[in-house]
Parts: sequence; C-alpha cells; structure tokens
Amino acid sequence: MTTLEDCRALDAQDPLRSLRDQFTLPDGVIYLDGNSLGVLPKAAPARIAQVVAEEWGQGLIRSWNTASWFDLPQRLGDKVARLIGAAPGEVVCTDSTSVNLYKVLFAALSQQKDSGRKLVISERSNFPTDLYIAESLCRERGFTLKLIEANELQGPGSVLTDEVAVLMLTHVNYRTGAMHDMKATTAAAHAAGALTVWDLAHSAGAVPVALNESNADYAIGCGYKYLNGGPGAPAFVWVHTRHAGKFEQPLSGWWGHAAPFEFTPHYRPAPGVGRYLCGTQPIIALAGLECGLDTVLAAEAFDGGKGGMAALRAKSLALTDLFIALVEERCAGQGLSLVTPREHARRGSQVCLSRSEGAYAIVQALIARGVIGDYRAGDSQMPDILRFGFTPLYLGFEDVWNSVEHLVQVLEAGEWQREEFNRKNAVT
Ligand SMILES: *Cc1c(COP(=O)(O)O)cnc(C)c1O
Repeated sequence: MTTLEDCRALDAQDPLRSLRDQFTLPDGVIYLDGNSLGVLPKAAPARIAQVVAEEWGQGLIRSWNTASWFDLPQRLGDKVARLIGAAPGEVVCTDSTSVNLYKVLFAALSQQKDSGRKLVISERSNFPTDLYIAESLCRERGFTLKLIEANELQGPGSVLTDEVAVLMLTHVNYRTGAMHDMKATTAAAHAAGALTVWDLAHSAGAVPVALNESNADYAIGCGYKYLNGGPGAPAFVWVHTRHAGKFEQPLSGWWGHAAPFEFTPHYRPAPGVGRYLCGTQPIIALAGLECGLDTVLAAEAFDGGKGGMAALRAKSLALTDLFIALVEERCAGQGLSLVTPREHARRGSQVCLSRSEGAYAIVQALIARGVIGDYRAGDSQMPDILRFGFTPLYLGFEDVWNSVEHLVQVLEAGEWQREEFNRKNAVT
C-alpha cells in the first residue's frame, strides 16, 4: 500500500519539483486538465502587457521589425521543434489545429491525386474536428473518409491497402489516452504507399515525439494544451522537408508568399514550411504561446539540453502509474474501469476511467472539491469517461494522492448523486 508519506517522499526526491514555480495556480486547486487548457505561466501577464503597452503602444508599426514580430511564427516553431523531434526551420506556429489540419491534409491529398488512391483512413474515436475537416475535404477533393478502430491497422487484414492515400491519426487519443507507435505505424503506412498526417494535440509537451526519426510526412498540434499557450493559442504545423517545399497548401495568403512585401499580383509560395502561413499573425497570442513553450523547455535543464521531454516523460509515467495504482487500491468495487493502456509505450500523459453510471456527476463533484478533471461522453463503443490529465511540470505525487482521496470520498458517500452535480453545463 502506498501512503501519503510515500507520496511526500517522492515529491521531496523529485528533481523537477521547482518547475511548478513557473506557474500561477489558484489556491486549493489540483489541476488535472492541462490536456484541455494548460495553466497560466507566471511570465505571461507581464510579457503580454509589454507587447501591448510597449511593442504595440509605443513601437506601433515599427515593431514588425524592431520587436521581431515578423519572425515569431518561425522563431516559436523552432522551440516547438525541440519538443517533437523536428529540426529548426521545419515548424511554424500559426492558426488553429483545425485550420492547420485542413492545410496539411489538402497538401497530402494533392500529393496523392494522380495515384488512383481514394481513401483517407482515420479512427472513429479521433477528435471530432479532425473527422469533420477530413469529411469536408474528402467531399471537396473526391476522396472517401473511412473510419476504423485502432486494431484494424495491424496484421494480415490491415486496412492499409493500395487504395489508401492518407492515414490521418491522432498520436495520443484524446478520450482514452492510448498512444500509437508513430514509427511503426508510419512505416506500415509507407509500405502500403500511403502518407501520414499526425495530430499531436495530446502529444506535444506531453510525451516524447520523434517526427523525423519516425519518417512522418505531416504533423499539426495544439498550443493551448500541454504547451500552456493560453486559451485559443496558435497551433503549429510541421511538414517533412521532402514535402515542405513541393506541395501547396490551399490557403495561399500573403504571409506564405516567398516575398510578401513585393506585393506581386501572383502567388509564389515560400520555400519551406513558411508557405503554411496564411495571413497576418496574432502577435499578442503568439507572445502568450512563447511563455508557455518556455515553461516546457525549462525542463531541458534536466536532460542535458535535449528538449526536456525525456525528463518530463519519466515523471509523467510515475504520476500516472501512481494514480492508477491508488485508484485500484482505494476505489476497488466502485465500478471504475481503467480505459487507458497500462503499458507505458501505449500511454499518453492522461488516465481515463470509465463508469457505467455517474461519470459526469463524479467529475462535477470533484471539481466542486477543487480537483479539476473532465468528462467525455461515451458512445456505442465506449462508456462515459472521467479524464485526468497529468502535467509533470506542475503536479506532484501528493497531488495525486489528494485527488484519489477526494475521489474516494465522492464515491463512498455517494456525494455525486446530488442534484447539483447532475445538471449539464454548456462546456463539458
Ligand atoms: C484539442 C484538439 C483539437 C483542437 O482543435 P482546435 O482547432 O484548437 O479547436 C484538434 N484535434 C485534436 C485531436 C485535439 O485533441
């Protein structure tokens, strides 16, 4: 049996403990929702105020040059690159995940347009926006979106046939926390002649990602989850250098032009991933994102300057292992089942539990106690889910203990059955 004292001892030995000081966290809150909206970096309010008051207020139009506004998407992209196994110059921070997916999927489909391949494959359990974007793009471009279960990718009956143009997957599933083997899956897709589009929304800043080593083709990801960039922060795009300069994305705005300030009447794409920019960038939001990226990169001090993800991953796995063990020890017989894979190689940085009844209300009762996780509705394949994201930057082992203690109390006293916890809010 693990005890509260054991958890405190783990915190005392935790080399990453000081990273928590980078954040402003509300008192009395254990935040297990960094996978939906990362917390506020302490540096962000002052930095954003400076961009507003000085760079905008005083510098005005000059700040495009004097404050380096113009380079922000690339400069921040280089920081993201360190976290996802990409090289400098291969990533830009811009637009939303949904919009970036539209751009890269369009480019991938253009690449396959003369191949005779007509299928785009994705998982039925993928995040809806990815499926919606793919659905409309397929309709527009004459492809068919085929939805599968993860286990249909492997083995002799694999759906990866010579009809597949693009395999579009989210690396870590938003609902279950299950993680794909990016390298093996990409290799299987390539062997079948398909291109890969990876969504890193629940991976960037959460788990080590090795895009180049995996030989992936296209990737996009989110700035406001584990990257702590703030609500609606710009997302990012990575394109393998073998494709980046060759294929055009459809939103050919002037920021993706090779020479935007020539103001020529015809589009000429920038040489590399810069062409995935569209219009004028949200400078204030990018400044917030940079503060978030710096909180993650601060972990580099603990792995010899290699991006910090190895150090963060070790702690993330220790936190999620502890949570699983404590839930199984202390909530046995309470109807909870573990949805997230136990195997480290298949687990992201979250733990999902399912329960046939009361998942929503249990999450609400926990939130009322200051333990903020979230709820995701089930479907015909899967019951309702209680989702807990573990961010090693600001969570400790005692936090894990306390969140399970609250869960025990909510379940044992039937607290979740109170009417107030069973009313649905607009945003779950
Ligand atoms: C969070 C998330 C998104 C978010 O897309 P937005 O354009 O920011 O709304 C997209 N895809 C996945 C897989 C996500 O988890």
